[in-house]
Amino acid sequence: MTTPPARIALVTGANKGIGLEIARQLGRSGVHVLLGARSARLGETAAATLRSEGCDVRFLAIDLTAPASITAAAAAISEGYGRLDVLVNNAGITDQADGPPSSCSMTSVRRIFDTNFFGSVAVTQAMLPLLRRSAAGRIVNVSSGLGSLTHNADPSWEFARVKLLGYNASKTALNMLTVQLAAELRDAGIKVNAADPGYTKTDLNGQRGTQTIPQGAAAAVHLALLGNDGPTGGFFSAGRTEPW
Ligand code: NAP
Repeated sequence: MTTPPARIALVTGANKGIGLEIARQLGRSGVHVLLGARSARLGETAAATLRSEGCDVRFLAIDLTAPASITAAAAAISEGYGRLDVLVNNAGITDQADGPPSSCSMTSVRRIFDTNFFGSVAVTQAMLPLLRRSAAGRIVNVSSGLGSLTHNADPSWEFARVKLLGYNASKTALNMLTVQLAAELRDAGIKVNAADPGYTKTDLNGQRGTQTIPQGAAAAVHLALLGNDGPTGGFFSAGRTEPW
């Protein structure tokens, strides 16, 4: 009989960008990583890359906008491992037709919410029974400074001009999920926190970000590996607390 892995993590949207790097760093820390991706081809390729680097990684099909794929992913984890220790809700999108409140496309706002908020809620609900079976469950919601109401209300904030109603509000909603779920799960020993990667060079922003991908992954990796004395219900970038 093979020994079950000490720690099992699922990272959504992990075939590239910040999610791939979170998977890599968790793998390097000895975690068994389920690399979530909606494309089997891209997910298998990314998982093979991380395995070639020495990480213990397996591809898992999961599309945040396809409820059947979320159910199937939870069933596969239940059958394979019987529990989940870490969930990183990383998958997210922007949309060309998003924009300021006066002119953004409603279709675009709904499309963004479908993935960034409703998709993350659906994945979280599906994985919760498995996380409850962990001795030290951790949920990390990959949010954004753009989701901070405090930052959005501050005209002197570095990114104050970035008023994308759909994207920013989807991350504000994800922050609400973080706060409410942390309160609900406090007694269950499951820590729930939001990570702000910072402006990171990925496809999401046409590679215009100013941070490297490892810098962007740092906050989420830290929160995924929190000890029992770590915080819950907080919003953190690498090295500092972010305002809601
Ligand atoms: P990215 O390189 O575009 O990666 C996004 C990932 O999400 C891809 O793997 C993508 O898969 C996946 N994805 C999109 N829709 C999905 C769906 N319906 N189901 C499953 N996976 C889906 O972007 P990134 O910059 O690494 O973004 C990762 C997270 O960080 C996002 O939540 C983003 O909002 C957040 N963030 C990024 C920045 C930044 O500056 N980059 C700043 C703050 C927050 P495909 O390859 O199949 O499209």
